[in-house]
Amino acid sequence: MSEGGEGQPVFRRLCLLGIGLIGSSVARAARARGLVGEIVGHARSERTRATALALGLVDRAEADPAAAVIDADCVMLCAPLGAYVPLTTAIAPALAPGAVLTDVGSVKGCVVRDLAPLVPGGVHFVPAHPVAGTEHSGPEAGFAELFEGRWCILTPPAGTDRAAIDRLAALWRGMGSLIEEMSVDHHDRVLAITSHLPHLIAYTIVGTADDLGEDIKQEVIKFSASGFRDFTRIAASDPVMWRDIFLSNKEAALEIMQRFSEDLTALQKAIRRGDGDTLAQLFARTRDIRRRVIEARQA
Ligand code: NAP
Repeated sequence: MSEGGEGQPVFRRLCLLGIGLIGSSVARAARARGLVGEIVGHARSERTRATALALGLVDRAEADPAAAVIDADCVMLCAPLGAYVPLTTAIAPALAPGAVLTDVGSVKGCVVRDLAPLVPGGVHFVPAHPVAGTEHSGPEAGFAELFEGRWCILTPPAGTDRAAIDRLAALWRGMGSLIEEMSVDHHDRVLAITSHLPHLIAYTIVGTADDLGEDIKQEVIKFSASGFRDFTRIAASDPVMWRDIFLSNKEAALEIMQRFSEDLTALQKAIRRGDGDTLAQLFARTRDIRRRVIEARQA
C-alpha cells in the first residue's frame, strides 16, 4: 500500500461517517492541505448533510452509510461511540478491499473489542484518537487548525499492516498532528486521568452549583470568573458524546475516580486538622505539572 507521494493526496477518497466538530475539522484540514482527493460524508440528519454540502466540507453527502463508503480508500468513523457498532455493521459489506477503516473515538478498548470482529478480511483496521477538541459540536464548529501541534494516538491491533498504519499516520501528520502508537489499555488508562476525570469533575461542580438555591445561583454566575467559569466551559461539552465515553471506558474511569475520591478524602482530613503543610506541598507539586504542560506546548 503506497503513501501519497510528493504532491499526491494520501487518500484518493475519504469517507467521513459523522460530520460534526471532529469530522468537519478533518474535512477542512485534509482539504486545505491537499491530503485527500475527494470527501464523501454521511450523517443521520438531512440538516447535517445539507450543512456539510453548503460549507463545502464534502463533495457528496449520503443518507445511507453503506453508499457513502463505496470505493473509499479511507473510511473514518467520526460519530459518537454509541453509533459505531450499527454503522460498522451497515458498512462492512460495502467496504472496498484494501481500504483503511479508522475512527476518532475518545475510548479505544471498546472500539477494538466491538469492531474488530465486524471488519471484513482485506480491510485494514487502524483505530485512532486525535487528542484535540472543544466544547462545541456540529459541522459549523470545526476548523482546519484543530489538530495542529496536538497528539493523535493510533492503537492498531497486533498484526495490522504496517503500510496502512503509516498511511493513516501520514494523513494525521499532514493535518498537523504529532503521532504516538500505544495499546488500547494504556490509551484508556491515560485518557481516564487526562480527559475523562476532568470532565466528570466539571460536570459535578457545575451540577452542584445548579442544585443550590436560586439566590446563591445568581451569585455563582456573577462571580464565575473566580474559577467556576473554566469548569462551565468543560461542562458544556456534548452530553451524548460524554455519556458514551463513560459507558465505554467504565473500568478505567471507575478506577481513577476511586483514586481521586481517596485523595479528596485525604485533603478533607488535612483541612479539618489544619494541616497547612500537606495542602501547601500538594499545591506546589501541581503547579509544577502546569509548568511542564506549558513546556510541552499542550497548554
Ligand atoms: P459532534 O460534533 O456531535 O458530531 C457528531 C456527528 O456524528 C454529527 O455529524 C452527527 O450528525 C453524526 N451522528 C450522530 N449520530 C450518528 C449516527 N447514529 N449515525 C451516523 N452519524 C451520526 O461530535 P464530535 O465532537 O465531532 O465527536 C465525534 C467523535 O469524536 C466521538 O466519537 C468522540 O469521542 C470523538 N472525539 C471528540 C472530541 C471532542 O472534543 N469533541 C475529541 C476527540 C475525539 P447527525 O446528528 O445529523 O447524525
